[in-house]
Amino acid sequence: MTDQIVLEHVTKTFTTKELGSVTAVNDFNLTVKKGECFSFLGPSGCGKTTTLRMIAGFEDLSEGSIYLGGKLVSDRSKNIYIPPEKRELGMVFQAFAVWPHLNVFENIAFPLKVKKFPKDEIRRRVLEAMHYCNLDGLEKAFPSDLSGGQQQRIALARAIVVNPEAMLLDEPLSNLDPHLRESMRFEIKRLQKEFGFTIIFVTHDQSEAMALSDRMLIMDMGNIQQIGTPWELYNNPKNRFVHSFLGQSNFINVDVRNGKVYPKGETSQQIWVDNKPSKNGEQVLACRPNMMELTKDDGFRCRIIKRTFKTDFVEYLIKVGEDSAIIQAPHRVLFKNGEECCVKIHNPAWYDLEDEAAEKERERRNVV
Ligand code: ADP
Ligand code: MG
Repeated sequence: MTDQIVLEHVTKTFTTKELGSVTAVNDFNLTVKKGECFSFLGPSGCGKTTTLRMIAGFEDLSEGSIYLGGKLVSDRSKNIYIPPEKRELGMVFQAFAVWPHLNVFENIAFPLKVKKFPKDEIRRRVLEAMHYCNLDGLEKAFPSDLSGGQQQRIALARAIVVNPEAMLLDEPLSNLDPHLRESMRFEIKRLQKEFGFTIIFVTHDQSEAMALSDRMLIMDMGNIQQIGTPWELYNNPKNRFVHSFLGQSNFINVDVRNGKVYPKGETSQQIWVDNKPSKNGEQVLACRPNMMELTKDDGFRCRIIKRTFKTDFVEYLIKVGEDSAIIQAPHRVLFKNGEECCVKIHNPAWYDLEDEAAEKERERRNVV
């Protein structure tokens, strides 16, 4: 596979009166392959949109370079900057960015008109794009007559009408209700199969990213935390941020002495784990609720504090040292509130204590 979108040391710093200088994107290195569906995932304000805008050419870089299809399109030090309309990209943004005063046909035809395509070719391509986006027969309708889902389809059709090498989708589904989101996701994948374009998909919805992506990255405060397949990121998170961002997690403060794991501040009982930490001292044990096993008498002894029946599993709250943990167990494993039980923790991850500098920066940026 060839490289479609390459970012090398891309950095963007904004300076504002209120916050001073904020590095929205910090030394970003990324290669997205041709035909790949790649997601950016991270909390609000972590730099997803800024990165996309730099790829699209709407935002200048502070440092670094960007290549599209092997061609250098942005480079700060060489003073290279190719404008958005020459980058062969399709874009769909979060807000329904359709023009209310243009009908459906005119909306979708717009980028072709800018490129001065002949009239009959515009007509052919617009009708084809409309067909692919399930908008047949709506040429003369105005966006205000259409549903949110249909409006977002207009935006999609307008993006594919230029036959883009890559599509940049910035939270395109977040204004839609859950049912529509699901079907639009499917539509996007179908269009990708049909046209073979590369996708960068920005979302703050983790299950959406997991469902759509070949690979994805998780970012925090402008920094890439980890890049990998959805499976890798969920099962082998590299740090606490990634662990807590994807899926549900338990974090338990522990003290490891001579390779034995004790809850912080306790020495009476070891925690049962099948994957030992590599060093001694205070640290954090992280595990998924579905990787904690409840037994009658084998493992770390504790008590059920609270039991909640969920549809496909039973959720138990327990206490390990000073921390609470949630266990998801199948219905066949049944304990009562207050009952004694034992816990085995499978495949935990081990992290250092919270990074205080990162916490301070988070507060400064008003992100929690
Ligand atoms: P996301 O899309 O992940 O929510 P953004 O890329 O929009 O994040 O923002 C990243 C950071 O950059 C935020 O701290 C935001 O306040 C800041 N930022 C974005 N655009 C501007 C701008 N035009 N001027 C100043 N700061 C900006
Ligand atoms: Mg954004």
